[in-house]
Amino acid sequence: MKQLDINLMHPSEQINVIIGRIYRSGMTTTSGGNISIKDANGDIWITPSGVDKGSLTVKDIILIKKDGSIVGPHKPSSEYPFHKAIYKARPELTAIIHAHPPGLVAFSIARKVPDTNIVPQARDICGEIGFAPYGCPGSEDLGEKIATEFKNKRYKAVIMENHGVVLGGTNMMDVYQRFETLEFCCRTIVNAGRIGNVNVLTDEQIAQYIHHFPKNIAHYMDVEYPSDERALRSDMVKIIRRACDQGLMISTYGTVSVRWHYNDFLITPRDVARWDIQPNDIVQIKNGMAEAGKVPSRSVALHHRIYQLNPHINSIITTQPVNLMAHAVSRKAFDVRTIPESWIFLQDVPSVPFGLIYNEIDKIATMFNHHRAILIENDCVFVTGDKLLNTFDYLEVAEFSANSLVMASSIGPLQPMGDKEIDELRIAFNVK
Ligand SMILES: [Zn+2]
Repeated sequence: MKQLDINLMHPSEQINVIIGRIYRSGMTTTSGGNISIKDANGDIWITPSGVDKGSLTVKDIILIKKDGSIVGPHKPSSEYPFHKAIYKARPELTAIIHAHPPGLVAFSIARKVPDTNIVPQARDICGEIGFAPYGCPGSEDLGEKIATEFKNKRYKAVIMENHGVVLGGTNMMDVYQRFETLEFCCRTIVNAGRIGNVNVLTDEQIAQYIHHFPKNIAHYMDVEYPSDERALRSDMVKIIRRACDQGLMISTYGTVSVRWHYNDFLITPRDVARWDIQPNDIVQIKNGMAEAGKVPSRSVALHHRIYQLNPHINSIITTQPVNLMAHAVSRKAFDVRTIPESWIFLQDVPSVPFGLIYNEIDKIATMFNHHRAILIENDCVFVTGDKLLNTFDYLEVAEFSANSLVMASSIGPLQPMGDKEIDELRIAFNVK
């Protein structure tokens, strides 16, 4: 991932931004979790002990100097011993996140390690996952147990038995993205298991998938940015941020595009954290070529083909929300005959086997003549629409419906709406 400005902020500011993001995404409680950064000179900045995570400010972050002296208005986090032990075991790591998010804690208390091969990018981002035996919080003993796991250089994330998770990174964005992606994997696996079997990809399938990405796209130099084009950029940034806020997109995955003129369009860049995308990161695509100096999302060729073959489509969102992905990973049919809103907005949502989106571009693009949304097994969901806001709404409706189906699975099987009711909706809402 491209490194963003957050890494140029002061350590206490970085910690403050990230803890706020983690708290607002429901990945820590007010009291739980702690974050630290190791400075180039060996000083460590860390969250304080016993201060509300929902209202933390830059002034609350504590500095522990290399000589052990403490600067700041509070006591440092009581888990400082294991932060210190990890930095000692792995000098290349300079940022640590520890928390008790529900998905990872589920694995911690079942004493299992999540298999991140559920989607292609997750394994690469999360790496292999370690598992540290239980130790009393705040103790040197816990520090030693965790450091022992981190001595294995393959691990940048360790599940803590009956406690939570701790992750390291080469900077704050690196560790945050790993944390968010790993929690996404856990929630997806849990939800997939509630409705069916969890199917994982082999390492070969993932390697082949990455190999199939179109490597180079032609560029053009004379780029112009008329006002209508700039307006689309700002609309896209707002929708991406909203998707992240609503838990519909994570930093490490998600593509949004909007038709501009004819078959020219704007699309998200490759390898920029979704939370932090700015209007000038968005890539203009003209005649199938990208504006100079920018790299578009990997699925740019498919987006181009969808616009060419479907004049009614003006925007596309590709993402991985946990309940839709539970269907894509369990390969369980996503039946939207749940409530009238779901069926009216989405109609039937087919599933396509993994890997097809790069080998059968025309076939997939043509499917959108008749379908608004398509699930790609072990990969993502594609949602299309006329205006970008409508497309976002369809995505929300789809994820809500998928969530209800996951929840219903523990009550009883879906009792779908009947053909008579569907025909009635078809007439009443003028659905083709
Ligand atoms: Zn803890």
